[in-house]
Amino acid sequence: MDKIIIKDLVVFAKHGVFPEENKLGQKFLVNLTLECDLRQAGLSDELEYSVSYADIAKETTAFLTENTFKLIETCAEKLARHLLIMYPAIKALEIDLQKPWAPIGLDVGNVMVSLKRSWHQAYIALGSNMGAKEKYLNDAVQILSNHPDCRVLKISPFITTTPYGGVEQDDFLNGVLLMETLLTPLELLDLLQTLEREAKRERKVHWGPRTLDLDILFYDDLVLSEERLVIPHPDLANRSFVLEPMSAIAPYFVHPRLKLTIQELLKQLQG
Ligand code: ATP
Ligand code: MG
Ligand code: MG
Repeated sequence: MDKIIIKDLVVFAKHGVFPEENKLGQKFLVNLTLECDLRQAGLSDELEYSVSYADIAKETTAFLTENTFKLIETCAEKLARHLLIMYPAIKALEIDLQKPWAPIGLDVGNVMVSLKRSWHQAYIALGSNMGAKEKYLNDAVQILSNHPDCRVLKISPFITTTPYGGVEQDDFLNGVLLMETLLTPLELLDLLQTLEREAKRERKVHWGPRTLDLDILFYDDLVLSEERLVIPHPDLANRSFVLEPMSAIAPYFVHPRLKLTIQELLKQLQG
């Protein structure tokens, strides 16, 4: 991806663990690497297709002077989030935040925190088979759309499906959405589980009736297997109630482990 780089921006600010630092302040140095697509700006010579490095430098200066944090880790983390949310053209960014004059009483040349943050693409399966099913799904979409760390990009049509897993219960309403998110996979799972709880979901029978089920299908092309979270969702290739709605919004998305598209997985399942 193309990059815009801002080097050695000097900001006088008051971050630090020691109270004198919060009163007196000191100089911080910032390096920013912004990943954006610069092709259109390069061809057109129009600033509207790029990100103004003057604006970014001003915004960074304002953010670091208007807030006070103890840790430069927090400064860098929050600044990254602030810029990624404020400037949609920035897909990812790296921040080096230096504090060369940190008062630690030793002759240290420089101290720096360096991190990279970016938007990630996640596909989420939505399901409900109790009560006002469509409302549960729509409310979940709405809450995710309004969350500052999430942007819902596409929503499939909702389809009615017969239950899976052998438990006698009402039909399901199922859908899939694509979102961009700044959350890590586990943070995203936490958010989805909070929404499930808020929908008063009670988990009594596995694969039994529920007001709201929100599963992470994919997170970029990540393959992850942890106690609380398996990505891609381990059973999705066996589920037409997932593949069918997802094929409506992303038929050519390639399963990172099976190396088949959603359309191919659906065809394979339908035999
Ligand atoms: P299934 O995951 O087979 O569709 P379910 O959705 O009914 O079953 P839940 O009761 O919603 O299962 O979740 C059980 C646990 O699954 C959760 O506590 C969560 O930690 C874990 N889990 C593992 N991988 C995922 C994933 N990709 N998305 C959501 N939950 C997951
Ligand atoms: Mg599920
Ligand atoms: Mg679930």
